[in-house]
Amino acid sequence: MSSELRLKKLRGSGGYIMATVTDEQQMKGNLGGPDLFLAPIGRLNDDKITKHFCNTCEKEFEGPPKIEFENPNEEVAENLVLAERGQYICKVCNASIAEYREFKKPNEEGEIGSAKPLNANASTAPTVEVVTAPTVEVVTAPTVEVTQPGSAALVSSIEGRAVIDENANKVGIVKQVGIDASTQSMVLVITKNDGTEGSIPWVSIKKVGEVILLGKPEEEVAVQSGKCSECGFVNKDESKFCEDCGTKI
Ligand SMILES: [Zn+2]
Ligand SMILES: [Zn+2]
Repeated sequence: MSSELRLKKLRGSGGYIMATVTDEQQMKGNLGGPDLFLAPIGRLNDDKITKHFCNTCEKEFEGPPKIEFENPNEEVAENLVLAERGQYICKVCNASIAEYREFKKPNEEGEIGSAKPLNANASTAPTVEVVTAPTVEVVTAPTVEVTQPGSAALVSSIEGRAVIDENANKVGIVKQVGIDASTQSMVLVITKNDGTEGSIPWVSIKKVGEVILLGKPEEEVAVQSGKCSECGFVNKDESKFCEDCGTKI
């Protein structure tokens, strides 16, 4: 295969870049249509990029965009590692021009096994090892409970498990699953550390596993009403926009 370099337009979701690419990179970027795409090619060296066009600025700029990347080396499926995740960013307005992910098979000969989703779009296969995405138990349990109130299977499967909040503090022990009479929504009835009974809205549960992990405890939401959902920065209560990233609160 020849390694001749050609100047090509490589498209991303928020613009394009002009770069010299090898035949091999062109083949990677060709998804069947007339255009070449940046995402399957991954990271290119700055010196290969001559221009970038930003859809947000509606302008073409000389030189390469910013490229930010990280190397999580995270196993997303059996024998499939997310080696690098990065994006091409407009130098002027910081909008994303293109994103890419590079995967590696640690065992080149081996098959890729079942997926271990690390976020919603990585895979839809359920597993109980996810932290960010709801687990299969959390997803299916409310349905079962709502259609068959008092489902013994569900209750017995989680009762007695420790309830842990976001800060890794033990809140109590699961007593049972119930329905809050006033809101008609599902709650987790727990025995708190001091022996009294309490209830936790089902929506506050982040993960059900060996323990019940809470995502956004009510107290925290109440205290940190200015907390940015995007970047986590805690703003003043009266803030309308995040001081850190500008997201509307
Ligand atoms: Zn821009
Ligand atoms: Zn923010």
